[in-house]
Amino acid sequence: MDRSAMALLNIRTFGDPVLRQRAQEVTRVERAHRRLVADMFDTMRDAPGVGLAGPQVGVLQRIFVWEVDDRHGAFINPRITARSEETYVDDEGCLSIPGLLYPVERSVAVTVEGLDERGREVSVAAEGHLARVFQHEIDHLDGVLFIDRLPEDLRREALRTLRRQALGLAETRARGAL
Ligand SMILES: [Zn+2]
Repeated sequence: MDRSAMALLNIRTFGDPVLRQRAQEVTRVERAHRRLVADMFDTMRDAPGVGLAGPQVGVLQRIFVWEVDDRHGAFINPRITARSEETYVDDEGCLSIPGLLYPVERSVAVTVEGLDERGREVSVAAEGHLARVFQHEIDHLDGVLFIDRLPEDLRREALRTLRRQALGLAETRARGAL
């Protein structure tokens, strides 16, 4: 890859209101979306992560990129068109909530349909980890974070940790200001 052509986007973190808004449908896939998807891939791989959604880079459009094992792709206006009744629980993290890992219940299998960055129809039947990534990223497009899906006790613990992190950050900033 030509490193000079890489463009890393700023990943928004917990507390940024953009993560809580519903992203808008893309009415027309344009050349700019190909550039955005390329930048989102660079940003996801650099992080590194396995998925990245528009709101996480401040773009309130229904778009996400993913890469699991040797498969990768982009979805625009993704919809879950089928999901298994069976669910499973596994640890989940988020590039926008660094350092936190909690067990989240997700459907074992989902089928996601939408468009790719060239406006072509795409349908991917996913199971296990990839299905989890798809559900996590589509949640981002609705302003939903994985900690919202935790049982009450774990959610409280996660929020306490986030508050402590925020305080730590504030102290560092105050010291830096001196
Ligand atoms: Zn996330």
